[in-house]
Amino acid sequence: MLKISQNDYDAIRRHGEETYPHECCGVLLGTMDGDERTVTSTARCGNTRNDSPHNRYHIDPKELVRIQREGRERGLDIVGFYHSHPDHPARWSQTDLAEAHWIGCSYVITSVEKGKAAITNSFELVGADESDKKFADESVEVLQTTATK
Ligand SMILES: [Zn+2]
Repeated sequence: MLKISQNDYDAIRRHGEETYPHECCGVLLGTMDGDERTVTSTARCGNTRNDSPHNRYHIDPKELVRIQREGRERGLDIVGFYHSHPDHPARWSQTDLAEAHWIGCSYVITSVEKGKAAITNSFELVGADESDKKFADESVEVLQTTATK
């Protein structure tokens, strides 16, 4: 189960709209408590794939290390990743599974239809190890924030 603040949920969807018709990608930072991940911050990543950025995404490992370090300084861990599917359903692809390596993390996919964010789904990468990994549907709870702007 993934809990995410309304602000972060909106930020993911907005990012997908901004990069349309290309995919966007980013990292979810927060806390992990057993089977429950709570997102309290998101970090945008540059899409470093040049071959076909509309249907592939890739996060530069150096950028990931930097995000992880900056998160730890604020007491946050990487709890998941997100990317968009321009004009494709918010379901994971075989490529998504092949490129997912963080077992126990959430993989959020937002479909963007004609430039507007549509459905946002989350999948938990489960399994004992790399050869056994698979995606499991997980519920997303969007937390209403009372923070003032
Ligand atoms: Zn994908």
